[in-house]
Amino acid sequence: MSRIDRLTTVPVSYPEPNDSNSERHLLFVRLETDDGAVGWGEAITQFRPSTFATEVLVNGMADVLIGSDPTDNIATWQRLHAQAWWYGYRGGLFNFALSAVDIALWDLRGQVSGQSLSTMIGRHPDLHEDGLPVLASTHVFDVDLDAEVARHAKYVNDGYLGVKIGMGKKGDSRIGYDVARDIDFVRDLRGACGPAAWIMMDRGQSLVWTFDEALERIRGWEEYGLKWVEEPFEPWDIENLRRLRGKTSCLIAGAEREWDVRGYSEVLSTGLLDVIGCDVGRVGGISGALQVIRLVEANNVWFNSHAWSSAINTAASIALSASTRRCLVQELKPDPSPMQAEVVANPFVAVDGRIAVPTGPGLGIHVDEGALTAFRMSP
Ligand SMILES: [Mg+2]
Repeated sequence: MSRIDRLTTVPVSYPEPNDSNSERHLLFVRLETDDGAVGWGEAITQFRPSTFATEVLVNGMADVLIGSDPTDNIATWQRLHAQAWWYGYRGGLFNFALSAVDIALWDLRGQVSGQSLSTMIGRHPDLHEDGLPVLASTHVFDVDLDAEVARHAKYVNDGYLGVKIGMGKKGDSRIGYDVARDIDFVRDLRGACGPAAWIMMDRGQSLVWTFDEALERIRGWEEYGLKWVEEPFEPWDIENLRRLRGKTSCLIAGAEREWDVRGYSEVLSTGLLDVIGCDVGRVGGISGALQVIRLVEANNVWFNSHAWSSAINTAASIALSASTRRCLVQELKPDPSPMQAEVVANPFVAVDGRIAVPTGPGLGIHVDEGALTAFRMSP
């Protein structure tokens, strides 16, 4: 029986073209067995200090990981999770570390057994054989809004089902700041993308809307067929979310910042969200995300993978999305990010509005270690 005998971490920094080339950071984990099988995982650590801090926590898991059976990954997850109560209770950096390790463990189990992740966690039978519907998830940053309308319409023309637009990010677009201008932007976007395209607007974390301006903005967008509004208020602003509920016809999305099943239980108990965001690189990996999916299914809402980092996260996210009937669409960054296009041999692409579910062993991707380590950062 093979055993895990090597744990390696790769902290990286990279420019993200879908966010006006801002510098972002991720932590990768590589596990190898004594007979040479390799599994990869990733945490969406975002900032430089949190990336290095997570690296320390991952290396501290070596005593559990080294010597463990790669086919017994769920028990290994439980052992690691049992260490969290002191310094990662209900989330935080511990969950980044657990996420990266868990994804690598599932990948490794697949490499050893020859099974794809989708085979191991299950694929919903209603899913069409030609893959998941896929939307272009990007930010709006150009000061020239006509150029932004044209850019997003091109994604639809290139085969995406629709667009999800993050506001309040890097750049000078100032979308999300002026209600009338925001509504005009979506009107123009609808005109350019055509009647069938899905349009979703994501407030992001830096904008602050009053209840009245949020309602006016969302109702204005609904005139142009808004599919969903994401995080219109901060997640803990229950009172405004409750007031919004019933006054709008679009779906309300949120919760991508939650860390674990207990946080998601609390969010779902409010009954205020239709679409539940969940990042596999944050929520405790594939094992943590599967717990969230079971909750989402029991509450008859929708699961949405927040897949906004590397192709490793995307591979895991696609398999998770394909495992449940409660998934409407899969997100993909449309402009070639180095963490998507350069670090794997077979980057994910949208074809005719769909994205294929990987079928190879584990995550079903081939990580180019040379390309990845070119982005390694030093403390
Ligand atoms: Mg979001």
